[in-house]
Amino acid sequence: MNGTMSTKSVHAGENRKKAHNSLTTPIVLSSTFPFENTAEILDFKANNTSSIHGRLEYGRYGNPTVRAAEMKLAALDNAERALLFSSGMNAITTTLLALLSSGDHLVMVCPVYRRSLEFTDFLSRWGIETSLVESNDFDKLRTALKPNTRLIFAETPSNPTLRVLDLELLVRIAQEAGVLTMVDSTFATPINLRPLELGVNLVIHSATKYLGGHNDLLAGSAAGKTDLLQKIQDARNVLGGILSPMDAYFLLRGIKTLALRVQKQNQNGQLVAEFLENHPLVKRVHYPGLPAHPDHAVARKLMKGSGGVVSFEIDGSKETASTVIDNLELPYIGPTLGGVESIAQQQALLLSSDPDTRKASGIPDQLIRYALGIEDAEDIIADLDQAMEKAAAAELKT
Ligand SMILES: *Cc1c(COP(=O)(O)O)cnc(C)c1O
Repeated sequence: MNGTMSTKSVHAGENRKKAHNSLTTPIVLSSTFPFENTAEILDFKANNTSSIHGRLEYGRYGNPTVRAAEMKLAALDNAERALLFSSGMNAITTTLLALLSSGDHLVMVCPVYRRSLEFTDFLSRWGIETSLVESNDFDKLRTALKPNTRLIFAETPSNPTLRVLDLELLVRIAQEAGVLTMVDSTFATPINLRPLELGVNLVIHSATKYLGGHNDLLAGSAAGKTDLLQKIQDARNVLGGILSPMDAYFLLRGIKTLALRVQKQNQNGQLVAEFLENHPLVKRVHYPGLPAHPDHAVARKLMKGSGGVVSFEIDGSKETASTVIDNLELPYIGPTLGGVESIAQQQALLLSSDPDTRKASGIPDQLIRYALGIEDAEDIIADLDQAMEKAAAAELKT
């Protein structure tokens, strides 16, 4: 499917002619795809069964609705093949298990999603060692590589401080060392960044976030070249984490408006970040669209927009940050991002009630992560303004 991103979002992956002349791709709720007779089974087994266009056999290996969503996503990521999973974590863990073996070494570029980091505890139990390096510290990255390093795993932009990794440099170093690269690009979406076009081997999304876009499903994806994706497909067949056909349908529908939504969220992000940067109750804003962000230049070089997540630190106590959150009327309070509804959280408090654990996470108690929806920026800003005024007044009283 040719065309630009909005056109691909709407049309890619979906057959023009569908069953019953339906315009939308049908939800095929079938756990198995029975054969007419033994001859058809023998023919199926004798021919290449792994092609995305091939006949289906059993729901854990593939499903027509899931395949349509996979082809749409592959078009957006500019990948030969994409695979969908029951969650972002399932995409990450299945991919790592497919590619790594006992004795291999993995490098993780931090910060990464905390459950991805936690998975390295599992990997170490199976004889796979992990080294951690900080984002954009390429000297450290070079020295972290060992003869048995198989893969570099990174996340960009990262949570919650929106570090943007220079993927061009990452790819150059990895290619020189003959090491694979895998990038969790959930925060960027293919609208803002397409890592495969920069030479990254595998791109991961938590499709729960912007791709689904409506806070109504969990899904994850891995995309790249066919040979690597076949290994991941083989692992998915065994581990069983394929996306359900129902969720694949909602994902297909969500992706149709991806480009529109992300454009709005990019605008909201920039406007809200600029408002916060000038607010007296704010100590620091983390948003790559601001010149003060450490990775502003990298973001300008690689990304089409800076996304819809803005993190900011309140100049005050942990309680003042909570007062801001509690006085916001527009966003929901809680984890996740990327949906049409704005959602905010005081990240550290959701991590742990223990101050030492929070300190170890490196996320300040006063940090608020505001994941912007597609509401209008003027309403979001007016709401933030009144909540901060109340929090400032409360701070003066104490
Ligand atoms: C949410 C998230 C994940 C995990 O995805 P789930 O769909 O919740 O399993 C992984 N990486 C990033 C960057 C995320 O934001």
